[in-house]
Amino acid sequence: MARIPSHARALIIGGGIVGCSTAYHLARLGWGDVVLLERAKLTSGSTFHAAGLVGQLRSNANITQLLKNSVELYDRLEEETGQATGWTMNGGLRLACSQERWTEVKRQASTAHSFGLEMELLGPAEARELWPLMDASDVVGAAFLPTDGQANPSDITLALARGARQAGATIVEDCPVTGVRVERGRACGVATAAGEIACEAVINCAGQWAREVGRMAGVNVPLVSVQHQYIVTEPIEGLARDLPTLRDPDRLIYFKEEVGGLVMGGYESDPISWAENGIPEGFSFSLLDPDWDHFETLMEQALLRVPALERAGVKDMINGPESFTPDGNFILGEAPEVPGFYVGAGFNAYGIAAAGGAGRALAEWVAGGEPSMDLWPVDIRRFGRPHRSIDWVRSRTLELYGKHYTMAWPHEEHDSARPERVSPLYAELRAQGACFGEKLGWERPNWFARRGEAARDIYSYARQNWFEAVGEEHRAVRERAGLFDQSSFAKFLMVGSDAAAALSWICANDIDRPVGSLTYTQMCDARGGIQCDLTVARLAESEFYIVTGTGFATHDFSWIARNIPHGLNATLVDVTSGYATLSLMGPRSRDILARVTRADVSKDGFPFATWREITIGGAPLRALRITYVGELGWELHVPSEHALGVYRRLMQAGREFGIANAGYRAIESLRLEKGYRAWGADIGPDDTPLEAGLRWAVKLHKNIPFLGREALLAQQAAPLGKRLVCFTVDDPEVVLLGRETVYRDGVRVGWLTSAGWGYTVATNIGYGYVRNEDGVDDEFLFGGDYELEVASARIACRIHRRALYDPGMVRVKA
Ligand SMILES: Cc1cc2nc3c(=O)[nH]c(=O)nc-3n(C[C@H](O)[C@H](O)[C@H](O)COP(=O)(O)OP(=O)(O)OC[C@H]3O[C@@H](n4cnc5c(N)ncnc54)[C@H](O)[C@@H]3O)c2cc1C
Repeated sequence: MARIPSHARALIIGGGIVGCSTAYHLARLGWGDVVLLERAKLTSGSTFHAAGLVGQLRSNANITQLLKNSVELYDRLEEETGQATGWTMNGGLRLACSQERWTEVKRQASTAHSFGLEMELLGPAEARELWPLMDASDVVGAAFLPTDGQANPSDITLALARGARQAGATIVEDCPVTGVRVERGRACGVATAAGEIACEAVINCAGQWAREVGRMAGVNVPLVSVQHQYIVTEPIEGLARDLPTLRDPDRLIYFKEEVGGLVMGGYESDPISWAENGIPEGFSFSLLDPDWDHFETLMEQALLRVPALERAGVKDMINGPESFTPDGNFILGEAPEVPGFYVGAGFNAYGIAAAGGAGRALAEWVAGGEPSMDLWPVDIRRFGRPHRSIDWVRSRTLELYGKHYTMAWPHEEHDSARPERVSPLYAELRAQGACFGEKLGWERPNWFARRGEAARDIYSYARQNWFEAVGEEHRAVRERAGLFDQSSFAKFLMVGSDAAAALSWICANDIDRPVGSLTYTQMCDARGGIQCDLTVARLAESEFYIVTGTGFATHDFSWIARNIPHGLNATLVDVTSGYATLSLMGPRSRDILARVTRADVSKDGFPFATWREITIGGAPLRALRITYVGELGWELHVPSEHALGVYRRLMQAGREFGIANAGYRAIESLRLEKGYRAWGADIGPDDTPLEAGLRWAVKLHKNIPFLGREALLAQQAAPLGKRLVCFTVDDPEVVLLGRETVYRDGVRVGWLTSAGWGYTVATNIGYGYVRNEDGVDDEFLFGGDYELEVASARIACRIHRRALYDPGMVRVKA
């Protein structure tokens, strides 16, 4: 039986590439007392059978940075540890075989440039020069990432393990973890057949077993196993050893050179899930039976691309299971359910590429208590209630696997596991032409089809089919009134005699105002980064109602609950399901509301930033006077059972004022014109309210302590290194989507964090941070000429000092 210590500071479960990388980084951060327990042998899970391609570009800057960190590490690891890694920086080639795909690739190149990654566009002949064996007759263009590469997955894992040991970590094989000890809600140890180990942090890097290991602690890790296959050929004559990796997304396949032959695999549209009833005992260094029938469609595509395969013998067919997640991103971070329990799993067949950076990020998260950069796309707190159902997770995951190489359309929605979570208005809105999108399981109206129009998105990189319909909704809100179903908003109650004190500490704005007040606020971390962006209504002396975005339910709940100062009497409760939210917005909203309620809704009787309990028909509800669209309006938080009745009364009363249904795509256009920030895009933990232009919402001028205050005060004393600003491009043929590179006087200074079309101001709007190491003052900001790189073309744009729209004062093309 394995000999194990009785105590560790950090205890890592799983000796695949991710566990070993986490051990390596934690040990190098000075956490000498790190123990890694592996059930069988190192690499015996998914790692040993990976193909070993290492690509870097993702659609988020920090996740791309994380993958760049992998490459930087793999580049030096062999020299550092003395263990071979098989790492070669042979570059990565990506083909485009249709005009739409070529647009996608050109947009990806701009994204790469935004994030500081080299990516060159090539013509078919140049691509063929790099990859002479391919038939390039259907290739429209290609992109080449010179710093991508490939590695030997087992060797690189063993090098990480060696590096971890060299820095003081202990690695124990043949020692399965059988239980996780949780005391007073916190993870504090693990059980094994060889005894227990007490620890400060338990880190679940158990690959496709991570869901099972999570359950030991009461933590949900939403991933499932899916079969993934590739072939390895005998050596092929004329195949260069330094051949770049090749991705051919239109044919759903990838290639890599291996010992003079080729590795070829791909992503079928009808993937096969595995181990639905649990992973069999003793599954280590194990593979599944090859499924040639299933592989045939990929093989046919591969033969067309590389005719030489016809003559090459197939040496091996690998069918290995791997863990995949419902959104194609991996899972990182401290579990919201159990402090002290961390997860690094669900790597969606790019765990070799990600492990170097992911292990580092996870180690920094464990050591620092927070991630060192905004990792929202992979953060475990992005999941919510639907992800507790394995059936929901499996069905969405299989859809995403099948879309791995399909076009990643702007505004794309997914079809599986729907509808699942619906508002009381769902059937009514559907009957009125709503085209729904999905977020955290909720069905939300994105837009409303007009008579004779199908309520269905038709995707394209040009203006999509809903463009005109959304324009009508937008204009209804600006000129008359629109009604939005925002029932999916996450809603919490904070109650207790110390609720005000607790929230006062957590909120950057002053929420300790009279009963009836409503406050827009950020919640910052100790670095001043924006963790949450939400509204707080004071219901009573010791009761607050908190409303935040649909997708942030788990994250924001966890952030608030964990930051209630110790010893205070304040409890947070999720009341999302109790209330539907109807947002009545537009210049005629007061007239409409006045028709359906006896309450005083006049300017003085119901001022901005207050809330009142009012009745509409037989329904008592909370009316919050607030707006995210830049118009007079109310969010009506209605007990769910009354929602339909209130909706019908509003629509009936609104008819004479020209009320219209409106959806989330109209909200996006309206809020961009008004310059309201979106968390997860324009603002997040890497941005402070000062950088984001939200200083007005921070109580720095009051002598009230709050989380992040010291950091913001320090930042206020020095020039800001970046500032969020508004850009416009008037040409309606240009489509801004976000991530376009921003150049100032020809020098790259940032990228667009969000963008879209503003129907009132009739221009493309983009928001983005302008960065400068020496500070971004007004002179720097407004003293330069700006361009945007859109789909690899430079386009002149204008920078603006203020938001483009104010009610009553429309500034068109300022
Ligand atoms: C066919 C195939 C091809 C692939 N190709 C590529 C590629 O080209 N590029 C790329 O980047 N990625 C690729 N991948 C993905 C890559 O292999 C994985 O993402 C990566 O190996 C995941 O590493 P891991 O450490 O998370 O999981 P694993 O390697 O599975 O490690 C988890 C470890 O946890 C251990 N464990 C489980 N339960 C316990 C317990 N209770 N106690 C102790 N230990 C436990 C297991 O034994 C296992 O060793 C491919 C995957 C497959 C299947």
